[in-house]
Amino acid sequence: MIARDGACTSIWQYSMEPYGPTNKPEAGMVYDVAIVGGGITGLSTAWLLQKAGKRCLVLEAKNIGFGTTGGTTAHLNTMLDTPYHVMIKNFGEDNAKLVAHAAKEAIALIKQNIDDLRINCSFKHVPGYTFAQNEDEAKELDDMLESCQQVGVEVAYTDRIPVPITHNKAIVFNNQAQFHPLQYVYGLAKAFEEAGGVIVENTRVKGIEGDDVISITGDTTCQAKAVVFATHIPIGINLLHLRCIPYRTYALGVRLKDEKDYPYGLAYDCKDPYHYYRTQEIDGVKYLIAGGCDHRTAAEENTEKIFLQLEAHVRTHFDVEEVIYAWSSQYFEPADGLPYIGHLPGHAANVLVATGFGGNGMIYSSVAAITLSKMLLGEETPYTKLFDPNRVKPVAGFVNFIKHNATVAGEMIGKIWPADKLNALVELAPGDAKVVKYEDATIALHKDEHGNLHAIHSSCTHMKCTIAWNSAENSWDCPCHGARFSIDGEVLTGPASTDLEAVVIGRGDN
Ligand SMILES: Cc1cc2nc3c(=O)[nH]c(=O)nc-3n(C[C@H](O)[C@H](O)[C@H](O)COP(=O)(O)OP(=O)(O)OC[C@H]3O[C@@H](n4cnc5c(N)ncnc54)[C@H](O)[C@@H]3O)c2cc1C
Repeated sequence: MIARDGACTSIWQYSMEPYGPTNKPEAGMVYDVAIVGGGITGLSTAWLLQKAGKRCLVLEAKNIGFGTTGGTTAHLNTMLDTPYHVMIKNFGEDNAKLVAHAAKEAIALIKQNIDDLRINCSFKHVPGYTFAQNEDEAKELDDMLESCQQVGVEVAYTDRIPVPITHNKAIVFNNQAQFHPLQYVYGLAKAFEEAGGVIVENTRVKGIEGDDVISITGDTTCQAKAVVFATHIPIGINLLHLRCIPYRTYALGVRLKDEKDYPYGLAYDCKDPYHYYRTQEIDGVKYLIAGGCDHRTAAEENTEKIFLQLEAHVRTHFDVEEVIYAWSSQYFEPADGLPYIGHLPGHAANVLVATGFGGNGMIYSSVAAITLSKMLLGEETPYTKLFDPNRVKPVAGFVNFIKHNATVAGEMIGKIWPADKLNALVELAPGDAKVVKYEDATIALHKDEHGNLHAIHSSCTHMKCTIAWNSAENSWDCPCHGARFSIDGEVLTGPASTDLEAVVIGRGDN
């Protein structure tokens, strides 16, 4: 099983062996492109560039699939989270048509990669269904259907849906798809390496310097003529952090009592947040994957409770034999409904980014691969303008905002904190955690299952927001920009690239 950025085991990571073996960047080599991040975006982009003759390097902080790609639910759809009628209103009909075209092209690229590289990842085309359960939702479906037809997405009303949930209206989309995301990404990684690309795992990038030749610093130092940040959210402090809101969403992998009850196709209700369902077979065993219950990162105090809510929802509608997997993961919602793919604001023209995918990153990662590879190959694509991250102009007061957030609270560094005082500050049961105030400082405390106290500074190393405990995934999550840390302060998820400092706990009152 491979590692993921959370304590819960996802259905995907469980079935994967570590990718390895570990490589190093070639000494003295100036790569054409360094791709930072070994998720679906990084590997999809790396493969297209290497195939086109570029010499590429992938740098991954942990292991391939460690990020949200290892915690997704892997629906491939042309019906996206931002409805087409909203896109038409905000970006115009031509641009909405372009997004619809991009989504179709993404599914086609995934299928082509799978066929060309013979990747065994249980890809299949399936229909997708959206259903309404009241009059307001039915009206929403009408708008969806009309706008889908307007932008060229094939859709129709249907009498039946594949899940046993009462509804009053439903629509069906053909040529949607599903697959095993990590098997797909491993297939791309293998092809990338066979074509001469280099993958370096366990190497966190902390910064870049230079223009024509970019020096990449962090756990390794290397050089490239261009850099792609495929880190889900860019590292450092960037305008895009103000335009991407971190959300957490939950999923279950469930065995049903009756084989006949597994749905054929993808299904979504119209709630806000919506629930989604599909079937996945792994090693001959079928699972119902059900997801939903999204909330802003760190907005829920008891994240374990959300799993119970989701399970109760699933048990209301399905005859459940056993819940085998329960996991959650993070995505980044873009401010205006479209992802940011292209030149990273505030950097040289050869530094690119792909972020703000919302819940459609399986699709937008391929759109990013197409767009970014074409940009780096000097080819035209209509997507460059549409998804341009620089469509967002700096907002008034941005510089002051950055300065304010970046003020370092150094008052706790180097101090030894007495364990008895910390213990007395807060009554923590094993497994519990809390941010406490003590002598003008705030400390994030967690008591592990063996009763040991773990104490870290509570100001996120990215922009100094106060972190909050995520009991389901045993992590400290930042509500502002989505950085996440382990119980001992190690970075799990960017944009932070520096660990939270541990608070040194002494024995007595010193
Ligand atoms: C529960 C859930 C369900 C979802 N379901 C769907 C779905 O059904 N369909 C869909 O289209 N989308 C879905 N999404 C969204 C989709 O999964 C994501 O958008 C997508 O996986 C993002 O892929 P990525 O490669 O961009 O990022 P990630 O998979 O997060 O990869 C980024 C990688 O970068 C690495 N990294 C970060 N910082 C550094 C650094 N400084 N140096 C080196 N490496 C670094 C990380 O370790 C990580 O491996 C879902 C999301 C969630 C949370």
